Amino acid sequence: MQTLKSYVCGNWHEGTESPISLVNPTTEAVIGTIKSGGVDMKAVVAYARQKGLPALRALSFGARGELLKQVAAAIHSHRDELLELSIRCAGTPRGDAKFDIDGAIGTLTAYATWGIAIGDRHWICDGDIETLGRSSRFSGRHVLVSRQGIAVHINAFNFPAWNMMEKAACALLAGAPVVEKPGTPTCMLAARISEIIVASGALPEGAWQLILGSVGDLFDHLTEQDGVAFTGSSGTAAVIRGNANLVRRNVRVNLEADSLNTAVLLGDVDVESPTFAMFISNVALDITQKSGQKCTATRRILVPRAHVEAVTARLVSTLAESKIGDPSDAAMRVGPLASAAQLRDVRTGIAKLAAECVTACGGAGPIAEKGYFVAPTLFVAPNARTPVVHEHEVFGPVATILPFDGTVAEAAAIVALGQGSLVTSIYTNDSASAASIVDSIAPWTGRIWIGSDRMAEQQLPPGMVLPASIHGGPGRAGGGEELGGLRGLGFYMQRTAVQGFKGILESLAPTPMAQ
Ligand code: NAP
Repeated sequence: MQTLKSYVCGNWHEGTESPISLVNPTTEAVIGTIKSGGVDMKAVVAYARQKGLPALRALSFGARGELLKQVAAAIHSHRDELLELSIRCAGTPRGDAKFDIDGAIGTLTAYATWGIAIGDRHWICDGDIETLGRSSRFSGRHVLVSRQGIAVHINAFNFPAWNMMEKAACALLAGAPVVEKPGTPTCMLAARISEIIVASGALPEGAWQLILGSVGDLFDHLTEQDGVAFTGSSGTAAVIRGNANLVRRNVRVNLEADSLNTAVLLGDVDVESPTFAMFISNVALDITQKSGQKCTATRRILVPRAHVEAVTARLVSTLAESKIGDPSDAAMRVGPLASAAQLRDVRTGIAKLAAECVTACGGAGPIAEKGYFVAPTLFVAPNARTPVVHEHEVFGPVATILPFDGTVAEAAAIVALGQGSLVTSIYTNDSASAASIVDSIAPWTGRIWIGSDRMAEQQLPPGMVLPASIHGGPGRAGGGEELGGLRGLGFYMQRTAVQGFKGILESLAPTPMAQ
């Protein structure tokens, strides 16, 4: 039995508390253990500060970009092994495993490229020079400089590779050493990636640490220049936000939490159009991919009343084509949930929805003797405002059709009932409707994805988080923001206004922030 180790203060560390079992969610066999405890969190912070921070700060963006390129290459060289491990420890069919691991490599590569493009500079400019005085002789501009702190990353179980590396890519490029803490159920994959990174020697000493299990009193040792970036449930987000030391010292905290994402089919879309076909295929993908354990997955499907019957039938038949079973079998498209706790939560959530809605397919019943499997489940709500659909995130292969009047105004009102989302996908071929819905729902959603006939062939689905666009959402979704090209570095940098003679300001390195 493998006992996984944290990597702290330059050493591999086995915890001291009782072992926590790591389980293959397909077979329910124990495949490893971790132990919390025995890590001196004050020393972890000091090590990152004293070793990693000066080493990274001494490098330009271009040099840090080169480091990310090496990290991406090291992970890529173990890709097949990592895909197999993902299947075993997270229950992901190979396609879902690629989504996570290739997503990690792709995001690292994107930030490596952006860093290398900035080149031999240590800070970047945000916006243009603006005249402040009577003439442009007295002007101002904003610069972004690396903060003199460390980055603590608390990650969710559902994307052990991508979630860890998208955060690490931004922090390391900005010059912040990282302390990564993966979600426990799938931490085997994160721990292996950590081993690969350490073995590659790509990062300077102190730039990378990984803590398995509890982070203990880590937050109590952070100070003003540090940052905590969290991904997970809104309950844990609230605990972290409320940590007394983080509040007292105004440590930056970025939260990525729950989200009841919506797909909106507007009334102008013909059921024979490419847009309609794309809508069906994307919604079905969101229900089945990663067994619905995707923060960007569609949970609420807004459908004009006239199309509810057609959409339900098409979705039910599309979902029936996704075979559920052992993810190591290439024919299977839907694997198990990641843990017994997840299975319990999802079954509870399905029961809540089933009490108020009609079950079109699936349900909470067992579908295999072993493994944490749940059938793709589709509900139809009696009306678009059915409260339970807007209150409860079921983090599994579950979504609900909400019949509505097909108008922009009604769609916007329903989207807002989710209290803040990561992504809203709109399906329309009408530019005026698209403009109007962007105006009304943007305050409630971090990303708006517009599907239409003209982009159908080239689309990347709305559930996919791309490094060039920001990821995060208001309200319930945590209120945080990650990625978005060089914007993603902002959390680890200080924006400072510089005022003075325009000639001097012009001599400051003019690399613009936005991609
Ligand atoms: P979770 O239970 O909140 O755990 C998230 C992370 O926080 C894990 O690493 C967990 O460690 C850690 N944690 C738990 N309590 C903590 C505490 N008191 N102090 C410090 N760390 C603590 O969430 P999850 O079950 O892993 O993930 C599922 C949820 O994440 C869903 O609600 C989903 O919507 C959300 N999610 C959001 C996004 C996004 O980008 N917005 C992305 C993915 C997932 P342990 O595992 O060791 O408990």
